[in-house]
Amino acid sequence: MKIKLDWKAQMKAAQLYGYKQDYVIEEVPDPIPGPGEVVVKVLGSGVCHSDLHFWDGSMAILPLPPFPWILGHENAGYVHALGPGASGFEVGEPVAVFGGWGCGTCKFCLGGEEQLCNVMLWSGLGVPGGYAEYIKVPSTRHLVPIGGLDPVLAAPLTDACLTPYRAVKKVLPALVPGSTALIFGLGGLGHLGLQLLKKLTPAKVVVVDPLEQKRELALELGADLVIDPTSKNVVLETRQFTNGEGAEGVLDFVGSDSTMSAAMSSVARRGKVVIVGLAGGSAPVSFYSSSPEAEVTSSYWGSRTELAEVVALAQSGAIEIRIEKHPLSNINEVFARLQRGEIDGRAVLMPYE
Ligand code: NAD
Ligand code: ZN
Ligand code: ZN
Repeated sequence: MKIKLDWKAQMKAAQLYGYKQDYVIEEVPDPIPGPGEVVVKVLGSGVCHSDLHFWDGSMAILPLPPFPWILGHENAGYVHALGPGASGFEVGEPVAVFGGWGCGTCKFCLGGEEQLCNVMLWSGLGVPGGYAEYIKVPSTRHLVPIGGLDPVLAAPLTDACLTPYRAVKKVLPALVPGSTALIFGLGGLGHLGLQLLKKLTPAKVVVVDPLEQKRELALELGADLVIDPTSKNVVLETRQFTNGEGAEGVLDFVGSDSTMSAAMSSVARRGKVVIVGLAGGSAPVSFYSSSPEAEVTSSYWGSRTELAEVVALAQSGAIEIRIEKHPLSNINEVFARLQRGEIDGRAVLMPYE
């Protein structure tokens, strides 16, 4: 096992002792890499809205371990220590951590789509995550080199950018010249989803968000129309903007009853609705509930290959990742602000600040 000189016996971590509790920053034992495992020094850990769903107990899609938890599934940093037999990376190499860890042997894992595995050992959601100085990763296959990218900026690539990237890929065939894409929610995922649509398709993009600062950001990032759902009828506005046709691609980064229902009513003929947000909503599907031959699907995080593609895109300078930097000790304030919709883009916690 190779160990760097600044290895400590104890590390700082933000621990959650129960639903809706404040995080407690305390010292816990350093993770030690076993055979094939690798420990990454966390430079940046993005704060995803899914962590809010976990924090308040509204989402329990995993067999969750007992408290305390160390959340944080959007991580990047430096390879810190390699366990026996772990290879392919050098200590000190900058990496993004793919977080959707699976069994490693089923057809989805072997195909690189571990986030679809039934065995969900997602970093920070089933096993300790990146709201700490170090994270233990079960295999070097989950690491993607980031080269010269700043790990703090790269952390959101692993989810806030990866997840909309996969969702955008699902609507790409429908987004031909003259088409329109519709986005619900311009937060961490949405602000990158908008840019991905602009870079990867010729479609016009309509953005729905109840908060004025988010709609302003959408316009800044190239949205062709923004809609305030609290004062405007999203379906009528979208239909009007598209000469009655509707949007060929709809990305719902909220997933509430109201957004899903508006999504189903705003989609064009043979268009596609992709549900990404985990607000727990639903909308009826029937022969007449949507436009003819419209499709509805969900999108689960992204694959390792897609993470490498997203890293390449960021390295090309094609996307602007809006981040707010915070020391790990600000975690409770960051969660409160995320809940109020006050984060500009993505908040990234930095354990070493
Ligand atoms: P965020 O808090 O950064 O952004 C949410 C945005 O939605 C905010 O701008 C908010 O103002 C806006 N919003 C709230 N209500 C709205 C409404 N009725 N209509 C339109 N916009 C509305 O959240 P995020 O981190 O971007 O995550 C978004 C959702 O995606 C969360 O539910 C999260 O759990 C989920 N998520 C899913 C996956 C997946 O794999 N499917 C991955 C990551 C996150
Ligand atoms: Zn997430
Ligand atoms: Zn598997």
